[in-house]
Amino acid sequence: MTCQKQSTGSKRHAATWRQVGHTWRAGQHAAIASKKPATSQPHRNKKEANSNSKKIMMLSIFELVSLCLTLYILKKQYYYYYYSVEVSSEPEAINDDTCCASCGIAANDDIKLKKCNACHLVKYCGVKCQREHRSKHKRECKKRAAELRDEILFKQPESNHHGECPICCLPLALDAKKSAMMTCCSKTICNGCDYANSTREIEENLGQKCPFCRHPTPKNQEETVKNLMRRVEANDPNALRQLGNRRLKEGNHESAVEYWINAAELGDAGAHYHLHVAYRDGVGVEKDMKKSIYHVEQAAIGGHPEARHNLAYEEYRNGRIERAVKHLTIAANLGLDEALRMLRECYKGGRVTKEDFAAALRAHKAAVDATKSPQREEAEAKW
Ligand SMILES: [Zn+2]
Ligand SMILES: [Zn+2]
Ligand SMILES: [Zn+2]
Ligand SMILES: [Zn+2]
Repeated sequence: MTCQKQSTGSKRHAATWRQVGHTWRAGQHAAIASKKPATSQPHRNKKEANSNSKKIMMLSIFELVSLCLTLYILKKQYYYYYYSVEVSSEPEAINDDTCCASCGIAANDDIKLKKCNACHLVKYCGVKCQREHRSKHKRECKKRAAELRDEILFKQPESNHHGECPICCLPLALDAKKSAMMTCCSKTICNGCDYANSTREIEENLGQKCPFCRHPTPKNQEETVKNLMRRVEANDPNALRQLGNRRLKEGNHESAVEYWINAAELGDAGAHYHLHVAYRDGVGVEKDMKKSIYHVEQAAIGGHPEARHNLAYEEYRNGRIERAVKHLTIAANLGLDEALRMLRECYKGGRVTKEDFAAALRAHKAAVDATKSPQREEAEAKW
């Protein structure tokens, strides 16, 4: 209880606190004690002190606790200040896009800095600097690149990959049988609009034409292929994918893959999905799981619910349940029944909360309902 010696009097108390703020040493402690006012003299005499000892002790304990508290607060404030400086300075250093991350040279009229394509966190004055900095930057770059990829991958697409019917502007159903692609213009028309057009043509005794571009309906397979090839030459992704599908049916797998690659390069989610399957199963190409995953992710980003479903399965297989659930939720929100069924299983197993499952149920219903119309229902009933 060294503190007891200098524990009386408010002036001394204040002096002690100030002392603690700088350096706390026994010598200084004693020096402070020696400057004590006359009121503390009884403390030197044991006999006289006996009567006051209890009071002094209580006061000393109180002061000791106060002292420890002050020390704690001071220390906390110091660390807070220290770390707040550290934390705030770190992103500044990362986001300092005015200097080359490797050599530190500042950008000017002659020196243009280029961002790291993978992470967008740093800039370099040239390829040499980027290469030299690679070993230091690699880990951070990979981490940020993965985060950026996930941000894109787990974003809910606005609609499924089929998009809308260009005539009635309603979302197309996931079931491919409920719409048809016109080879003349490569537009996918819902059965409702197709049916309404056909009915009108019959009633008015008109020749059959495409409900969208009014091109005469092909009379035979030859004309259909001719139309399709014209769109392929125009580099239409729908036509390229469609021709790939035809090549697959004919057994020409290599040619199918070539057309899908062309369509995928133009952003066609359906073609990405076919490439995912081709690389996964090694059909028409050498088996390549890395490429397969890349294409299934691209398809999923483009709103392909089956691609989401396959990704969920892949994540589940690797024990990454949380990611699997995210994929299933997105697929269910796009109206995929199978994804909703699997999500229900996850809910039963305690992997999904009641609120999240209820939200997915509502979103799934809304997505399915959005593809319905009286015209489409009439077509379904009569065709
Ligand atoms: Zn540089
Ligand atoms: Zn990077
Ligand atoms: Zn329509
Ligand atoms: Zn057409």
